[in-house]
Amino acid sequence: MKRFFSLLRENNINFLKKEEIAPYTSFKLGGKVDYLVFPNDFKQLQILMKLIKKYNFSYFILGNGSNVLFSSKPKAKVVIAMQDMQSFLYAQENKVFASANINLFELNKFLKDNELAGFEFSFGIPGSVGGSIKGNAGAFDGCVCEHLNSVTLLNLNTCEFEHLSKKDIKYSYRESNISGIIIEAVFEFNKGNFEEISKLQNQYFERRRKTQPYGVYSAGSVFKRGENYIPAKLIDELGLKGYTIGGAQISQKNAGIIIKKDNTCLPEDVINLIKFVKKQVKSTYKIDLKEEINII
Ligand SMILES: Cc1cc2nc3c(=O)[nH]c(=O)nc-3n(C[C@H](O)[C@H](O)[C@H](O)COP(=O)(O)OP(=O)(O)OC[C@H]3O[C@@H](n4cnc5c(N)ncnc54)[C@H](O)[C@@H]3O)c2cc1C
Repeated sequence: MKRFFSLLRENNINFLKKEEIAPYTSFKLGGKVDYLVFPNDFKQLQILMKLIKKYNFSYFILGNGSNVLFSSKPKAKVVIAMQDMQSFLYAQENKVFASANINLFELNKFLKDNELAGFEFSFGIPGSVGGSIKGNAGAFDGCVCEHLNSVTLLNLNTCEFEHLSKKDIKYSYRESNISGIIIEAVFEFNKGNFEEISKLQNQYFERRRKTQPYGVYSAGSVFKRGENYIPAKLIDELGLKGYTIGGAQISQKNAGIIIKKDNTCLPEDVINLIKFVKKQVKSTYKIDLKEEINII
């Protein structure tokens, strides 16, 4: 059988071998992955997925990398980077068509310029459309999936493209039922007003700056909220703000967030800190915290 990378080359699919994954993530952590692959259109994505299946390789789909922690020896053999995929963003009346690699800052700017309202809560979430739908990102009582009209994805079993309409999309807190590689989303918004949208976006952004560490490396909230508890509150009550293992630290500003304190930080420091926090919370509150971030 031909080597995997020969087939990538034959199909003009860009890739890097044994590439450090850290720069592609907001945590700036993680070791080398065997193949970091950059398909640039739907056809290449489909070929890539067929090859991954043929070789039975493990893989991970990477959006903006703002909700992931790669270990020093990541288990995924292939990381599919969505960043170079064909990109589009346009509106037809109150519907907005966005490729998966559009980031939420870009989307918010577009919505403001087109006077489409309702998505302001997401201003400041550093994710891509695809990653944000997958994990139903949200803030301040809003969530991304509630604005979806439909999604187009590559089915991981059949390697064919599929269209999911609103009725097929199920979501709950930081979860959606969408499995497959999201390539396009259609959102629906209400008609709004430029000044009001701009004002709301800025207000939400300010609230973020007040409650979250800014200008540091992290992957946002580490743990999911439960029905009756907020992890940051429990961790704060345990006096763990600022608690450090190696180069990983529980943020002084928000106990639900772990930051990379300095360049000595290893992914395993973060993983050990997560384990430590879970143990403390379990023994005091009898609660099993669940990770929101994806650990690979
Ligand atoms: C400073 C900071 C603040 C944050 N604030 C918030 C917040 O307020 N609310 C919130 O919910 N999150 C927040 N996050 C976390 C993160 O930004 C969101 O979860 C975001 O939606 C992740 O998108 P991403 O493109 O970075 O996904 P990634 O981190 O790249 O991936 C996340 C998951 O989505 C999958 N995925 C990515 N792209 C696709 C695709 N095209 N198709 C299918 N699956 C895909 C990945 O495989 C993975 O399972 C924050 C993070 C940071 C660093």
